[in-house]
Amino acid sequence: MDYKTIMCDVLVVGAGGAGCRAAIEASNHNLDVIMLSKELLGKAHTAMAEGGYNVSLGNVDPDDDPETHFKDTIVGGNYLNDQKLAEILVRDAPQRIFDLEDMGAVFDRTPEGKIAQRVFGKQSWRRTAYASDRTGSEIMVTLTEGIRKTAVRVFDEVFATRLLVKDGKISGVCAVDLKYGDYLVFRAKSVVMATGGAGRIFSVTSNAQLDVGDGYGMAYETGCEMIDMEMIQFHPTGMVKPESAKGRLVTEAVRGEGGILLNSKGERFMNRYYPEVMELAGRDQVARSIMTEVLEGRGTPDGGVYLSISHLPHSIIEFRLESMIEQFEDAGVDIREEPMQVSPTAHHFMGGIKIDENSGTNIPGLFASGECTGGVHGGNRLGGNALADTQVFGALSGENAAKYAKETDNLGVNREEIKNEFERLEAMLKRKEGISPADARSELTELMWAKVQIFRKEDDMQYAVKELRRIEKEVVPKIKVDVPVKRFNPGWHQAMEFVNMVTTARMVAEAAVMRKGSRGAHYRVDDDPNDKGYYNIVIRKGKDGKMDLRKEDVVATKITPP
Ligand SMILES: Cc1cc2nc3c(=O)[nH]c(=O)nc-3n(C[C@H](O)[C@H](O)[C@H](O)COP(=O)(O)OP(=O)(O)OC[C@H]3O[C@@H](n4cnc5c(N)ncnc54)[C@H](O)[C@@H]3O)c2cc1C
Repeated sequence: MDYKTIMCDVLVVGAGGAGCRAAIEASNHNLDVIMLSKELLGKAHTAMAEGGYNVSLGNVDPDDDPETHFKDTIVGGNYLNDQKLAEILVRDAPQRIFDLEDMGAVFDRTPEGKIAQRVFGKQSWRRTAYASDRTGSEIMVTLTEGIRKTAVRVFDEVFATRLLVKDGKISGVCAVDLKYGDYLVFRAKSVVMATGGAGRIFSVTSNAQLDVGDGYGMAYETGCEMIDMEMIQFHPTGMVKPESAKGRLVTEAVRGEGGILLNSKGERFMNRYYPEVMELAGRDQVARSIMTEVLEGRGTPDGGVYLSISHLPHSIIEFRLESMIEQFEDAGVDIREEPMQVSPTAHHFMGGIKIDENSGTNIPGLFASGECTGGVHGGNRLGGNALADTQVFGALSGENAAKYAKETDNLGVNREEIKNEFERLEAMLKRKEGISPADARSELTELMWAKVQIFRKEDDMQYAVKELRRIEKEVVPKIKVDVPVKRFNPGWHQAMEFVNMVTTARMVAEAAVMRKGSRGAHYRVDDDPNDKGYYNIVIRKGKDGKMDLRKEDVVATKITPP
């Protein structure tokens, strides 16, 4: 099996907000840094982020401070957060937004010229800094410009497929160059995983096409510990129509700016569920309220509810929600005059690779940051905390990966392991008969949407687990790519992704079955009142190849759970 070997000091897998920030930080240490991404530089999912970045600057509400941001994050996370990580988030978020400004990012301003801050759900103060409703795009443009000013070598349209470990330590990554179909081995002293989330394991999602959970699959296969995988945030407001845009995000900023939710009877139904905070209740709370309205027959004919902002002056909507206007114009709705139709959509993974205060994992030399990690947000993430997470932990992972690389030599790699990996990928192309990756993906995403959704129950989830185990055993080994070419072949890419989707979905479903009580975003219709403990579920691939799950006490260093 032919492959090309590329050496470097630090390898960053992923070029979203976290990956770019990690690569910039690592390159400040005068090291040879490589950054890989499946898509072209600048196109990562982070560019889709809309509403903003949480940071307790106190520019609009002077009483805000990191302590209150911390408290809101822990309460929002239903006390399942690793509090040491949450402390780092709130401590470093201010400096990291100033870094972005230094690199050229332009955020909206207050009349006095300070960074403006808006209100987001479940937060004590107006804390969310923003650039209209295109905050992620502003951050990505800034970071990609930042990357171009460094010596970071960017390999875009390169798909990492396997982490390589030698003597228990990270030693590199196997990958495929999607443009030419070449096999590549990157040998590195340290690796940062910044591969984003996996909303795409659900058929209705706000996530970018590539968010399928490669990082979760690769990390799990390598023996990395994973945490809180059952905790999926369903954003309350995704588009309902047209079908092609189903699930696309309608930013929380719409409600933050004063948008109201109405059912088909014209009732402002949040009054029934969370009268004190109304539309600005937690995302899980609003999502469940909407679903209840729909299930009880008070939804729109298309299965959603209405979100209206038309009572606000046109000028405010045009200035602060510009992309929402464009997004709905495409669907034939003028949000300045008419209500939007919305319903919940799979949005964010709170769980992921378990990291420590250095952004390190249980595998020496392997670091991780951004949405592919777990622990920072506990059982539920506050809107605006994810962008801050990408910058805070992106920088931390880059710095610590660089420090580690400086003290380490390149380790060898196991040629047999590499050969097996590329043969596994090649087999998908060579199989004469088998199952199409597109069909297999639809089956999986529909299964997850139907059985492991917002309202969860034992029978449904047991069914999902059984089916996922069957898919892993019977479908994965039979995946066959229709056209057996290696140069830019989307069918092959889908097949490679599918394997990681199955592993990710299994971790989600198995952990969801294990947690019998409702907590955070994990809401059980058949809630077991005896399973109310504050624990995390940690998953690891066992020596026998089985998925091991165990409960661990939460890291509660400052606030004791009630
Ligand atoms: C529509 C939408 C709006 C949002 N708005 C906000 C908001 O306003 N505020 C907020 O705080 N959060 C928001 N979020 C959440 C936030 O955008 C994400 O959590 C965050 O951007 C994730 O950044 P990341 O760097 O971890 O991953 P991503 O930006 O997803 O980047 C992942 C990178 O990994 C690469 N990658 C993945 N697998 C591989 C592989 N196998 N090989 C090579 N490369 C790979 C991808 O190509 C990509 O470059 C929003 C989310 C959505 C879906």
